[in-house]
Amino acid sequence: MTGLKKLEYSVVIIGGGPAGMAAALAAGENCNVLMIERNTKLGGILNQCIHDGFGLLRFQELLTGPEYAGRFQDFIKKSKVSVLLGAMVIKLTAKREIICVTREGVIAIRAGAVILATGCRERTRGALAIPGTRPAGIYTAGVAQHLMNIQNIKIGTTAVILGSGDIGMIMARRLTLEGIKVLCVLEKQPYCSGLPRNRCQCLEDFGIPLHLNQTLREIRGAKHVEQIVVATVDRNGSFIPGTDYTLDCDTLVLSVGLIPENELAKDCGIEMEPGTLGCRVSSRLETSVPGIFACGNSLHVHDLVDYVSEEGALAGKQAAAFASGRRPLVKPVRIQALGGIRGITPQYALCGEKLTLSLRPEAPGTNKRLRVIAGETVLAQKFYQRTNPAEMIRIDAGVVPDGAIEIEVELIDE
Ligand SMILES: Cc1cc2nc3c(=O)[nH]c(=O)nc-3n(C[C@H](O)[C@H](O)[C@H](O)COP(=O)(O)OP(=O)(O)OC[C@H]3O[C@@H](n4cnc5c(N)ncnc54)[C@H](O)[C@@H]3O)c2cc1C
Repeated sequence: MTGLKKLEYSVVIIGGGPAGMAAALAAGENCNVLMIERNTKLGGILNQCIHDGFGLLRFQELLTGPEYAGRFQDFIKKSKVSVLLGAMVIKLTAKREIICVTREGVIAIRAGAVILATGCRERTRGALAIPGTRPAGIYTAGVAQHLMNIQNIKIGTTAVILGSGDIGMIMARRLTLEGIKVLCVLEKQPYCSGLPRNRCQCLEDFGIPLHLNQTLREIRGAKHVEQIVVATVDRNGSFIPGTDYTLDCDTLVLSVGLIPENELAKDCGIEMEPGTLGCRVSSRLETSVPGIFACGNSLHVHDLVDYVSEEGALAGKQAAAFASGRRPLVKPVRIQALGGIRGITPQYALCGEKLTLSLRPEAPGTNKRLRVIAGETVLAQKFYQRTNPAEMIRIDAGVVPDGAIEIEVELIDE
């Protein structure tokens, strides 16, 4: 390509959300760093999360999303990190070459190390295959959040929320505060998928009913949503005949899961982990392609942004060490998740190095014990009175012994 602008950096970070910003700050202590963000502002999804609840662990304060992001934006301004805004990375190769599209043209960047901090995207109606017409008035929770919190648009008058995850429940409260009548939240599982704190503060405090074991059967309406059909499901997720009922509404908000954003990683041949839908990484957060690291929601969907920032900082330190060649080669040890676990990160431990595991239980439970075992040695164990898939479990397993061959992690009944 002629006229292509070419740049070179020690560490390049793709994504300027909380993970990317923490990674840039940690990497930038020792080398030249570039952070690329497709939006015109740093902060990622936090810029539209105007409710509080962010930063309790990191700052011991209850901050809103923009406030939490703002603190990191200030740190970045004071640092030596270079930032490229309004720039979208469209290609990454295993040799750490990056192609980035900006308003000024296409840029080719060579990086000593790359960090993927591209966040996650929402599951859409298309992915759910809900029967019915295709009227206006159907939003994913993130789009509804953006329209209301950033563009100040009231999206309807009477709404139903599909999905009881944290974002769905937060949006039920947000819609209510904007004067939209929220008829109910529908959840096909027999349990609420979000945190108990959000069920209490966002639904119970506002008198919004949560209907468990119920889901959407059909959407009706010509130009705009007019009605939805709801039905009860059995434990296999099949509709139970005769349980259908209709609700008149003009707005349907879908909050049915987040998918780590990993198209760049897949295209450059990085191994993916089916349990988390993120890249397969070692405890240094390095992927299967040397010198490419991953962190934040693109690696696995987090519950607390504080942990996103912590993980970003680890990726930043490790990427800087790789780029400068200061990195001992260590034997990787496969981590196997046994019963009761939905997804675990990382997938490889390194002998002689510290290991912190993040995982989600498969289903809600009581009186569970989490055990991290290497051969005959129990590296760590912890008792949980309650476990909930909405709450990420983190456990510090200490330093991995030199002779370890495999690490097993299990969540078992006490
Ligand atoms: C709709 C929605 C609402 C949420 N609400 C809450 C909430 O209320 N409370 C809460 O604790 N958590 C919430 N979360 C979770 C939240 O995403 C995480 O806590 C945190 O923001 C994740 O940080 P991140 O940096 O990994 O990702 P993000 O914040 O998503 O940042 C990723 C960044 O990467 C950029 N990017 C992606 N691809 C490219 C590319 N190819 N080139 C350049 N830039 C790129 C994106 O523009 C984005 O700015 C929400 C998530 C979503 C999707």
